[in-house]
Amino acid sequence: MSDLRIITYPHPTLRYRSKPIQRVDAELRAIVARMFELMYEAKGIGLAANQVDLPLRLFVCNLTAEPNPEEERVFLNPVIRRPRGSEEGEEGCLSLPGLYAPVVRPARVHVQAYDLSGNLFDADVDGLLGRVIQHETDHLDGVLFIDRLTEMRKHDVAPALHEFELEFRSLREQGSIPSDDTILARLAEWESRYC
Ligand code: ZN
Repeated sequence: MSDLRIITYPHPTLRYRSKPIQRVDAELRAIVARMFELMYEAKGIGLAANQVDLPLRLFVCNLTAEPNPEEERVFLNPVIRRPRGSEEGEEGCLSLPGLYAPVVRPARVHVQAYDLSGNLFDADVDGLLGRVIQHETDHLDGVLFIDRLTEMRKHDVAPALHEFELEFRSLREQGSIPSDDTILARLAEWESRYC
């Protein structure tokens, strides 16, 4: 799993809506372990499978951003319900490095998900954990935090997004990023194995 890496906006996999995972095997566990490593290297607190170019409905998080198995949480096939209240908080994303903006989200939600052992768990979450869970679940639906900004803030971040787009185009011209068709074919192959 050493070939996994974090992809950045506007990579098409970040817009992919992942289907539920149907089985967990040793390879999937290795992917999850590698996702934690990549998240820590990038000093993040959450990372969704789409962000490592995989169409799997899972994300990892650790609010401390420091390696510690007791703080590590894995969410498979998360479902968010019962949004309550509304709260604004600053967000960033490992797929949009260096970009931060305030995002309004429900203050509290109920989340249900499976762990790697196949156990269903659920919780009412708020604060930073609630925000991370909502941000990461959005990723699994192909939604980025920049989609949830007010029109005024979208205007503010437009130049930064344009820079990311130019960089992506240049990487693609150099051949470092495959074509959309190649990316989609690879996602379909992963999907046929786990979903
Ligand atoms: Zn993100």
